[in-house]
Formats: sequence, C-alpha cells, structure tokens
Amino acid sequence: MKACVFTLGCKLNEVESASLMRGLEERGYEVTDELGYADLYLLNTCAVTAEAERKSRQAVARMRKYNPNAPVVVCGCASEQNAEAFLEKEGVVLVLGAQNKGKVLNVLQNRGIFRETEQVFCELPSPKQTKTRAFLRIQDGCNRFCSYCLIPYLRGRTRSRSAESVLREAENCGAREIVLTGIDVSSYRDGDIGLGELLLLLKDVPARIRLGSLEEGIVDEKFLLQMREAGNVAPHFHLSLQSGSSAVLKAMNRRYTREEYLACCKKIYEFFPDAAITTDIIVGFPTETEEDFKESLSIIGEAGFARVHCFPFSSRPGTAAAKKKDLSASVKKERMARITEAAKRAEIAYVSRFLGTERTVLFEEEGGYSENYIRIYANGAKEGTLARVKLVNLYRDGAFAEITEEIK
Ligand code: SF4
Repeated sequence: MKACVFTLGCKLNEVESASLMRGLEERGYEVTDELGYADLYLLNTCAVTAEAERKSRQAVARMRKYNPNAPVVVCGCASEQNAEAFLEKEGVVLVLGAQNKGKVLNVLQNRGIFRETEQVFCELPSPKQTKTRAFLRIQDGCNRFCSYCLIPYLRGRTRSRSAESVLREAENCGAREIVLTGIDVSSYRDGDIGLGELLLLLKDVPARIRLGSLEEGIVDEKFLLQMREAGNVAPHFHLSLQSGSSAVLKAMNRRYTREEYLACCKKIYEFFPDAAITTDIIVGFPTETEEDFKESLSIIGEAGFARVHCFPFSSRPGTAAAKKKDLSASVKKERMARITEAAKRAEIAYVSRFLGTERTVLFEEEGGYSENYIRIYANGAKEGTLARVKLVNLYRDGAFAEITEEIK
C-alpha cells in the first residue's frame, strides 16, 4: 500500500508530516511526500494566508486526479479553520484539524470530523533523520493572540514536549545540527525547565543546536548566559519583529515597542557580536501609514538584520485585524518592493562584514550554513561534513568560501 503525505505551510508542518510519514512506514505503508498515485492521501494543510487556505483545498482535487478511489485524510490549520469545507469534498473521509494531528495514525480507519481538544503536547514518531540537519519539535500552539493571526485559535494554547523526550530524541537522532522547532519556541516550559535550561540539558549532545522562531521577551541576560554556557548553540536568533512602528506593533497586539526590540538586539550583540538576527516583517497592516512603513524600512539597518522575510498583510477572518479596513493591493505591492530592496541590502551588508574571516559550516546537498546563518558555497564540499572555511566573496544568496579544515 502506498501513502502520500502532502504538506503546505510552515516548517513545523513539514516536521510533523515527516513524523507522520515515519508512523505510516512503521504501519507497513510505502510512503512518499511527492504528489502522485497513492492508495491513501494525507493532506497537512495551512491557513496562514487566504492563498494558503485556497491551495490547501485545491490539493484534494489534485490528489483525486491521481487516484479518484483513494481516501483522503486532512489535518492541519486550514482544516481546523473550516473542517466542513474539506469534508464536503469527494474522497475526503476524515478531517482532524490542527490540534488532533497526532491522532491521525490511530484513527485512520474512522470517517467524519474528528474533534477533541486536549491541550497537551502531542508526541509524534521521530521523523526519519538525515545525518545533516534534524528538526526537533519541542513546542506547539501559542498564547499571544496577535491581532492578525489565527494560530492560537487553530493550534490551541502553548504546550511543550517533556525535556526528557526532547533529550532522548536529540541524543538518538545522529544529526550534526538540530533545529529546535515550534510555533513559539521561547514559551517552552516543562516544570522548572524553560528554554535556557533546556539548552543546558542539551549541551553534551554532539550536534550544533539552532533555535527556531523566538519572541523578544525571552532575550535577557540570564537566557543569553545560558546559551553561552551551553556552548553548542548557534548564535542565530530568529526574532519576529512584524513592524518597525510602535503604533503598528500596538495595533498588532505585539508586546514590545520599537525601542524595546532594538534594545533586545543590542543585548544579543553584547553577548554574541557576530550573531545573526533574522526576522519577519508584515507589510501593509491595515493601520500602517507611510510614516509607519518608513519605520519598518529604517529598523532593518538599525537592527543589523542578517535576513528579513517580508510578507504582505493577509486578512484572516475571525481575527481582530480582519475588522479593520484593508489597504489597497497597489499600496501593499509598492511597499513590498521597497522593503524587499532594503532587506536585500541588509543581507549583503551582513555577509560582507564576514568576508576574509573564518566560519564553521555544515554542508548540505548544495552549500551549507555557517553558525551565524550565512549561506556558504565551496568547491569540494561534501554533504554532511562540518568544515572551517574562509569567506572569499559574495556569491548567490551568501558567500563563496575556501575550506581550510574539515572537522571530524
Ligand atoms: S506569536 Fe503572534 S504571530 Fe506568532 S503564532 Fe502567536 S499569535 Fe501568531
């Protein structure tokens, strides 16, 4: 029996799908993540934008083109948001939403909409790992209720995997880099163990640890000291910003001002002078004026971002921001073009700072990442190897480098 697990959306969805694939394999299925002929389809959906939701619904028809007789099981955020829209599609036998994803493997024989909202961390099988980079789920859900976001409604409140289980998977995965993944990794908590304590528990794992998306509130002296003491954590902070304007941040229900965010970046650089701070910025939030937007432009240079992911605002029905009047598509498009340019300049400036210096790179299939998240290309690089390299010149989305030493 062949099963196809098709995934849309975020990294956490990808990691969860990889776990479900492993679980299906253990149940005797031949599993693929590429859309094609299969006897069973599992669709892991996304609702981060209206477009993502539309693509999620369309995927059912794409599956049925390959095999109209195969049952389709749907899970993920779009199916939590509108389960009926999936169940009414021909071929769909079971809809589980986002919060019951972990039950997919146990309820495959059922039919209908499966709703149960236990707010506990849902363990999934360990995804099949490569020797290079492993993504390790440590947390799910969110308590923050940003005014534009559906995630707390779809995935539920924050909950964490036990430190013991995180440690066990980290020790057994065999990868040279482990990315701690979740919706809001900074809210990790298992009893007295917060994210900083978890990093200390992982300090003897023979892998470089990289943190997933963080919120600004986690960054204080205690956390940065714990990170430094752990010694194997990459100095890379993906610190969601969303807007450079304090007024827009307030309307977004973010919990910091522009000044507080910048102070947090400054603190990070005090502890880790070469740190890569990467971020997300939403462009064209309904209350964003031209002046507000210029603050988003100017903070990019001020914060010294290594990479900026910019997204046009997408109104999500059911959120507070959806009640506000949307900006015109042309304004959003024009601002997106300007901020994309600014982001590109910041990225080049960041990489340029390190030309002529040595970094440690974990090579993947094509190129690899330095500890401070510079994409590096080198002749003779072998997948899965860790090497010291000297950065020579800017190249593609990062730098070209010479390998100076392979690290065993
Ligand atoms: S922090 Fe805000 S944007 Fe991120 S998942 Fe939670 S509510 Fe959504």
